Amino acid sequence: MKAIFRSIAICVTALFVCFNAYSNQPIAIVLHGGAGTISPDKMTKEVEAAYYAKLNQALDAGYAVLKDKGEGLDAVVATITILENSPLFNAGVGAVYTYEGEHELDASIMHGKERQAGAVAGVKTIQNPILAARLVMEKSVHVMLSGQGAESFAHEHGLAKIDNTMFDTQRRFDALQKAKQRIDKLSSIGVDKLGADMRFGTVGAVVLDAQGNIVAGTSTGGMTAKRYGRVGDSPIIGAGTFADNASCGVSATGHGEFFIRYNVASDICARMKYQHLSLQDAANQVINVELKAVGGDGGIIALDAKGNVAMPFNTSGMYRASIDGQGKRVVAIYK
Ligand code: ASP
Repeated sequence: MKAIFRSIAICVTALFVCFNAYSNQPIAIVLHGGAGTISPDKMTKEVEAAYYAKLNQALDAGYAVLKDKGEGLDAVVATITILENSPLFNAGVGAVYTYEGEHELDASIMHGKERQAGAVAGVKTIQNPILAARLVMEKSVHVMLSGQGAESFAHEHGLAKIDNTMFDTQRRFDALQKAKQRIDKLSSIGVDKLGADMRFGTVGAVVLDAQGNIVAGTSTGGMTAKRYGRVGDSPIIGAGTFADNASCGVSATGHGEFFIRYNVASDICARMKYQHLSLQDAANQVINVELKAVGGDGGIIALDAKGNVAMPFNTSGMYRASIDGQGKRVVAIYK
């Protein structure tokens, strides 16, 4: 009899320990709405309030999914679609223009458990490119589709076909006119250059879900007045987006050409994995030492398997928000 009681007690304790271990799994979320020369003197109080409201809304939407023990993929998509649908950010509606006056959007998503990933590049007729990136990951045998191939794949899988002018905003149109004047002036003296202020507002999110999975996603219109066909870092796995449960998840924003060349997102996770650096140190070294030294403007958001969050940037501001594994909330714009 005693033995039976003892076995029952052991089982109950084991169940309790298991339950506790599961419920102690931290959840966390971090998001960005782009980095650049963002400063209070360039902002009215109303515009600033609108940014804070949207950052809070997107943060709450993603966190609600995580609190319900939902999938990290759903949390990332919930957060990013809110930012894509807001004209405040350079993704979806409000995306910047190419030199030719169109919008070409890039997005990617990655799941850290088995390093599954999906991406689309240069799409013009999909309202929420992050949904298309997820479809590529879940419904195709590929990782990245581009241009018309990506569009027809997304439409075949149920995403509505929209007109490219749906992404138009006056603010980005004005920015294009200014950028073109500058580019035309520079090219008349033989310089082919996009200024450092010709972007801002790429969006991204990284989450740690209740199952312990890290998921990262990024969506952007790229850089103002970019050449048509130009692809930035945002849809490139390892450059603009990366997730690996064994190290970290990252979404980047900044001068994409540098982020591709320096393989920024996966380099941060590799430094954690192989050099055993903390998330904060790994992220800081890449953004504030390596990239800063070569003029690679921008920043990243990242989190690790314990729910630690890092949001370094080497520009004057980055729209950002997070709730870490301890439940600490941060919503900020400037340095
Ligand atoms: N990284 C994006 C790109 O180069 C732009 C940005 O994040 O602002 O396409």
